Formats: sequence, structure tokens, C-alpha cells
Amino acid sequence: MIEPFLSALPILKKLEDSGYDAYFVGGSVRDFLLGKPISDVDIATSATPDEVKKVFPKTVDIGIEHGTILVLYGDTSYEITTFRTESEYQDFRRPKEVSFIRNLEDDLKRRDFTMNAIAMDQSGKLIDPFDGQKAILKKIIQTVGQAEERFQEDALRMMRAVRFMSQLSFSIESQTLSALENLASLLDKIAVERKRAEFEKLLLGPNCKEAVNVMLNTGLYHYLPGLNDQKEQLKKLARLNWDSLAKNEMWALVLYCLNFDGKEVERFLRNWRLALKDIREIQQIIFFLSSRLNKEWELYDLYLAKRDTILSVEKLFQVINGMKEVQIINNLIKRYDGLSIKERGDLMVSGNDLLEWCNQKPGPWLKDTLLTIEQAIVEGRLINEKNNIKEWLMECNQK
Ligand code: ATP
Ligand code: MG
Repeated sequence: MIEPFLSALPILKKLEDSGYDAYFVGGSVRDFLLGKPISDVDIATSATPDEVKKVFPKTVDIGIEHGTILVLYGDTSYEITTFRTESEYQDFRRPKEVSFIRNLEDDLKRRDFTMNAIAMDQSGKLIDPFDGQKAILKKIIQTVGQAEERFQEDALRMMRAVRFMSQLSFSIESQTLSALENLASLLDKIAVERKRAEFEKLLLGPNCKEAVNVMLNTGLYHYLPGLNDQKEQLKKLARLNWDSLAKNEMWALVLYCLNFDGKEVERFLRNWRLALKDIREIQQIIFFLSSRLNKEWELYDLYLAKRDTILSVEKLFQVINGMKEVQIINNLIKRYDGLSIKERGDLMVSGNDLLEWCNQKPGPWLKDTLLTIEQAIVEGRLINEKNNIKEWLMECNQK
């Protein structure tokens, strides 16, 4: 067995010593079998949430109604979920009620795809009643049981199928794919936040372009905020090539393909329920990207954009133009690092100095003059030194 399972073994042991069954399940087992880096290990157990809380001294109720308890152990925390079935589904969404059960197989049966329905016990033995290992070998995404039934229970699973396709470069098994085509419209019922979590993972996957094509072919895109009538624009996205972009860079690239600007950008991102901080960051990237698409960077643009935005914008500029020139990006950062000031606070003069020197009442001229000084310093036409700035101003005033 390998990390991070090894460190989590004592959790399984403790549960078993207390008379319960416990297994590693879900994405961690799948990624282990794929030889991919394992993020967090999920644990499933026959113990009810109350029983889990009796076994471990430090726990947090993070989703107790669905049977999930967070156990704090050493300097790590583990999500432990009680075996459950989800008998009654309501309105194509999450189950109305979950029932805790004592049997592992029934728990695996309610999971979405066969590759995600494999359990591993503490000796490393795999319990795989739905042939998930075969699916992993064949690189296919297939629902546990009838695809149409499973997508009607929870329509988000359709979105999950496409995001796994993007992340794992698997293909979608034919019946699962037909069900996707037939039931795409049920995605309309799903909360935007749940769709966003899957969509963002899809955007960041190495096989994103193929996944976008599947969204186009199955019609899934019709039921995502702001993408309903954007077929050609999404095709444009699928024609671009990129290695790795951060989440907000990906959103900016989508928005570029959609040709959105100004208020449309904000509306689109708000409809996806992004955090305000991310919305502002993406708007900033879009703003400087539009400018960059029209002209080369000038020193004052670099000064206003700042390092992170410069990096994002130039990366996107290269993706859009089918280039990959790391040296250009490095040179830009060198130019940015060489700026004599990085923000207005770095100026060696203040509004008070100007009032004193110019002998005028405060007014809009003050802000304009500071801006002129700031720009001249950034562009290297003026040295950021008090006396120097004063002389320069007096000369300007005489002209
Ligand atoms: P990731 O590596 O992205 O975390 P994951 O497979 O672990 O992938 P999670 O969303 O963390 O995905 O879910 C953990 C497990 O719970 C899945 O592997 C799957 O077995 C099950 N699961 C999650 N969401 C659903 C769903 N909507 N329907 C059925 N089973 C689900
Ligand atoms: Mg997971």
C-alpha cells in the first residue's frame, strides 16, 4: 500500500477494532489504480455517524444528514461516510432521504460510475462488484446499473461523466452516452453551484477540448448558465490549444471565446455564482487581454496590470494566437520588475507637496497632476525624487 492510504490505515483499524467494517472508496481508489496522484482518501464504513463519533475523539459534523463526519486525526482530517442507499430521489436531484445500511455492496451500488464504485480494505484487497477495474483498463466511463435510471435519479451525474472524461481522458461507454443525449435537459434542475464545481474541473482537465465537444454533441451545454446558444463560440474554444491554465484564466478564455465584455462578463460570472473576488480577477484579466489583443504592452499597462495579471494575459494571448514563447513572458516580467515604482504609494511626492508648491486651492487639477507625474515616472521620463519632480513641474507650468 502507498501514501496517503498508509497514513489513513489506523482509521480503518480503529473502526474495525470497534466492530465495524471500513474501506477506502471512491476517487482515491480509482486514482491509485490509474497510477495518478491521489488527492484525499474517502472512507466508507458500516458505523452510523453517531457510532463514528464514539470511536474518534475529534470530529466535525460536516454532512451528518448524508452520513458524513470529518475525523481529525494527527494533522490530517478524513471524511468518513456511513454506507447508505439513496432510496427516494426527488425532482432529478439529490435524494430526498438517505438510509444508512450495514452492507458495502449496496453502498457501492448507489455510486455514479463503475470506476468510482471500487472499495479497498486494509490489506489492499479490492472489492469490485461492478467491474470497475475493467472499466479503468479499458478507459471507459460507465454508470453503475442502467444509465437512464441513474441520470434520472441525479442529473448532475451527466455533468460528472463529462468532467471525468476531461480529467482522465477516458471515453464514455455507448449506453451511458445515449442516456446523456436523451436526458441532457434534466441538467436544468440542478443547482448552479453543483454544476460549477464539475464545470471548473472539466475546464482544467487535460482532455478539456474533447469534453467540450461531447457537451456540444449531447446538448448538455444548453443547460449551463450563459452557454445555451453559444455553439459556435464553444467550438472556437475547442479549437484552441493550451497546456495548463489556472481556473480564472480558463474562465477568461471561455469569456474571450464568447466575445463577452463589460457588463456581460459580470452577468455571466454572477450567473455561475462565482465569488466576487474571482469575478474581479477575471474582469481584470479580460480588460488587459482586450487591450493586449490590440497593441503591445506599454510600460504604463504593465504598471496598471501588475505581475499576476500580466502573466495570465500574456499566457492567454499566446494561446489565442497559437504561440508558446516562454522567453516573451520572462522578458515582460523583467520589464515589470524594472519599473521604478509599482504603485502610487511609491511616489516621493504627495498631494500636500503639490498644494504647497503650486499655491492653488485643492481641485480636480491635483489628481490630474499626480497622474501625470506617476505616468512620467513609470515611463522613465522623470526620476522619482522630490526636488526633481518639483523642478519638472515648474518647467511644465512655465510652458
Ligand atoms: P475527485 O478526485 O474529483 O474528488 P471523486 O470520484 O472522489 O473525484 P467526489 O465528488 O469526491 O469525486 O465523490 C466521491 C465519490 O462519491 C465518487 O467517487 C462516487 O463514488 C461518489 N459520488 C459522488 N457524487 C456522486 C453522485 N452525484 N452520484 C453518485 N455517486 C457519487
Ligand atoms: Mg473525491
